[in-house]
Amino acid sequence: MLGFAGTREWVEAQSVTGTFTTIRRWTFLALHVILFVTPWIPVGGHPAVLVDIPHRQVFAFGNVYTAADTIFLLIIVLFLAFSLFFFTSLFGRLWCGYACPQTVFLEAWIRPIEQWIEGDRSRRLRRQRQGPSFDVAWRRAVKWLAFAIVAVVVAMAFVSYFAGARDLWTGKGGPVEYAIVAAFGAVFFLDFAWFREQFCNYLCPYARFQGALTDDQTIQVTYFPARGEPRGGKNAGEEGRCIDCGKCVVVCPQGIDIRDGFQLECIACSRCIDACTGVMPQLGHASLVGYSSLVEMQGGRRPRFLRPRTLAYAALLVGLVVVGAGMARNRVPFEVTVNRAPGSLFTVDGDGAVRNTFLLKITSNEPQPGPVTYTVLVDGLPGAEVIVPPFTLRPSESHTAPLIVRLPALDTVARTMPFRVHVTAPSGEVTVEATFKTGAAVGE
Ligand code: SF4
Ligand code: SF4
Repeated sequence: MLGFAGTREWVEAQSVTGTFTTIRRWTFLALHVILFVTPWIPVGGHPAVLVDIPHRQVFAFGNVYTAADTIFLLIIVLFLAFSLFFFTSLFGRLWCGYACPQTVFLEAWIRPIEQWIEGDRSRRLRRQRQGPSFDVAWRRAVKWLAFAIVAVVVAMAFVSYFAGARDLWTGKGGPVEYAIVAAFGAVFFLDFAWFREQFCNYLCPYARFQGALTDDQTIQVTYFPARGEPRGGKNAGEEGRCIDCGKCVVVCPQGIDIRDGFQLECIACSRCIDACTGVMPQLGHASLVGYSSLVEMQGGRRPRFLRPRTLAYAALLVGLVVVGAGMARNRVPFEVTVNRAPGSLFTVDGDGAVRNTFLLKITSNEPQPGPVTYTVLVDGLPGAEVIVPPFTLRPSESHTAPLIVRLPALDTVARTMPFRVHVTAPSGEVTVEATFKTGAAVGE
């Protein structure tokens, strides 16, 4: 534990095996596959997920999103936030223990590497007590080198979502992209080599509002004092079964003792459950650490999953899914703007017809690679003659062309006449409102 005043107490967590450790390893493997493989999967000529910041585009599983689709980003962020609230209210800090990148990389890479090079906890502590030596120095140097390699690989994986995996990993990325990799790699290295559990304890905002997200029905990693206390393992009955072996403490990556009750530092990694499960069954008892809720511990009642806060979060999640799906269904993969040509209200042609000139801009966000032809129609101006060149665009292309609307003078009865421009493509239709300035204004 910390801290900042210069009294950091290094946490040397002992390795552990057990059911939850195995579940977590498989979870970490799945998350690694998702992280490293997704940017390599081509969908519609682009990576499955790519955030193209210079062109303000996001490619996601064959769809192209632009700044006009920011509402989807908002919906996704809200969905993720309420999912976190929902699962936290039900199962506590599942995210921290099983899916947070901080936990995943520390548990999947950093602690195994450390153990491989410097030995398990007892050896590391012995070396620390022995003080500086060549043995300590070379092991630390090799360990830090390995950490640096992991940090750069992880940074490359994250930056792949912004720079494109193929270019980045084959050395064809730009200097800015590699500079970002270096910056992220340096931050990750600092975290792996030094900051570690302090990130959860002092920087992570999620840990700070745990109290507001959980209640006495939330299932959390818990020590069962009714069976464990008083410690010593001397009692023959149902009580006092904790033999005070300290295994649940030495495996804790946060350096806390689960027997002290709920603590904000606990990331619900379940290592202490596996540790006690490795001890108690040998003595013929069930583990003294497990998943439970406060109501269960106090009165033996089962926790309720359906309660006001979980129902509220579930309703919000369902609402977001419905709204998001409806918007996605009606989303048209191209953008249209119609603006009056600068400095031109209207002109009267030689035949007396009134002419308005607009600038029509179409931007294609079509997912399919081939060219798409857009048809332009105008309605709301009976008898109007519309002159517009054909629009054929490839994905991500944008084109601006004059849209000329001519109306016979006899038909221009009002000073302004609203009308609509319809742009259609095989993927859908966009309608834009516009206003025709008429010759009636000439005499006023
Ligand atoms: S107390 Fe247990 S669950 Fe909490 S961080 Fe420590 S080992 Fe993980
Ligand atoms: S591992 Fe179990 S028996 Fe050992 S100290 Fe922790 S709670 Fe007690």
